[in-house]
This record gives sequence, structure tokens and C-alpha cells, in this order.
Amino acid sequence: MRPSSSRAARAALAAALGLAIAGCVTPTVQQEEAIGDDFILDIRREMDLLTEPVVVGYIESIGRDILRALPPQPFTYNFYVVEDEKINAFAGPAGHVFVNTGTILKSRNLSELAGVIGHEIGHVAERHVAANVARQRTVGNLYKVTVYTAAIFGGQLGANAANLGGGLAAMGVLNTFGREAEREADTFAVEALVRAGIDPSGIVSFFELLSREGGGGVPEFLSSHPAPEERVAATQAQVDLVGDRPGLRRTDGGKLEIIQRRIEILTRRRSR
Ligand SMILES: [Zn+2]
Repeated sequence: MRPSSSRAARAALAAALGLAIAGCVTPTVQQEEAIGDDFILDIRREMDLLTEPVVVGYIESIGRDILRALPPQPFTYNFYVVEDEKINAFAGPAGHVFVNTGTILKSRNLSELAGVIGHEIGHVAERHVAANVARQRTVGNLYKVTVYTAAIFGGQLGANAANLGGGLAAMGVLNTFGREAEREADTFAVEALVRAGIDPSGIVSFFELLSREGGGGVPEFLSSHPAPEERVAATQAQVDLVGDRPGLRRTDGGKLEIIQRRIEILTRRRSR
């Protein structure tokens, strides 16, 4: 770490972003990377990241399988597991992708879990996160504005945010992506999974699972963003078109189940 140059870099970045904001211009890849560096520091302070290498390595391996099937990406992606039983996943600036333990535990097969990860990668790859940065208004605090956003489930992230202490919560202008962006990320996920040799139908079944799990509090996503039925139908139609190829993997030979057991043991031990 180089503190002095980092301060200068931040000042330059804030200035650049000020300009970007004024014109609502999407930040450059470099600017987004600098924001991503700050972002991950905040996340490490505010959230419980599971560092157990087998679990993190498993999520990474799914992410890498998807990325390998994509054209070269502007960012180096990093994958993290958040110790939180709520079903959620989100993408930060510059390719930081987070999956809650709750999402891993609730996934019934590789297809569902990879669908969530593919959707998040989609938000990064399509520069939705960058667009949210550009939309922020608080220029002074911009480099550390919380731009992480609800992935699958807007409302769930809202709940997460409420639990955050100082930093992230205080600066947290939590955006959700618009319906257009959500649809793009869904489409991206279906295509990416097929390319990676993974059955994309889990994207639809996970949506359905999420709708059922919605329970008492109606997730914000259900009211403000593409109606779930509409989103499920659109994704199903796309899956019908491209997802019927032979050899697409739905499961990963019991690996997911081993990881789920491992998470259960790890988190049980910790809560004692
Ligand atoms: Zn999303």
C-alpha cells in the first residue's frame, strides 16, 4: 500500500468523478477499479466474509468457469462469500462479486447457484455498476459511495444494509438496478451459463424459489422492478430457446452438497 500516492489518486479520482457526475458519464475502467479498491476495504470492515478456502474456492471455481466462457473482460473478477443466511448476492465495482451463505445453502443444484453468479457477473460486465456510480450525486464522498446493489432481490439487500454499521450504512445510497438492467443481467446469465456448459434452467427455478421465500416482507424487487411473473416468463422463454442443448450440467456430482454441509458446520461452530 502506498498511502501518499493513494491520497493523490483519490483526489484525482474524486475530481474525475465529479466531472463524470456532472455529465452523468460512466467512469472509465481505471476509475471503477479505484472505487472497487475502496469498496472492498469498506466491505471487509462492515460485513462478515467467510474466508474458509474450500467454500470460497468453490464459488470462485463456478465464477471462473463462467468467465472462461466469456470474451475477455475489462476487470479481474474476485469472488467472496458473505456469512449471512439471507438469500442474496451482489456485485461491487470492478468485478467484486459477493454471494451470501444463505444463497449457497438454498440453492438446490449447480444450475441455480451458477445462475445467481452469472447474473451478478452480468451486472459488472454490462457496466451497470459503473452506471450507478455515475448516477451518484454526492461528489465529495463519491469514491466511497456504496454502489453495491441488489442483485436478484432488491428488498433483501435493503435488509442487509439496515444491519450494517457506520460506514457503509451512513454513506449508503443503495441503488437498485432498473428493470432494463435486471433483464440484461438475466439474459446475460442464461447465455453465459450455456456457454459454460451449465444448464440455465436453474435461473428460472431460483426466481420461483425466491418468490416463495419472499414470505412476510414483500421484497422491493417484487413491487418496483420487473414483475416476477414477467421476469420468470421472459427468462423461461430464453431458456427454452437456448437451454435445450445436450450435455448441459445441472448438478456437479455432489460438490454443492459437500459445500453446504461445510457451511453449516462452520457457521454453527461460530454461533456457539
Ligand atoms: Zn440484478
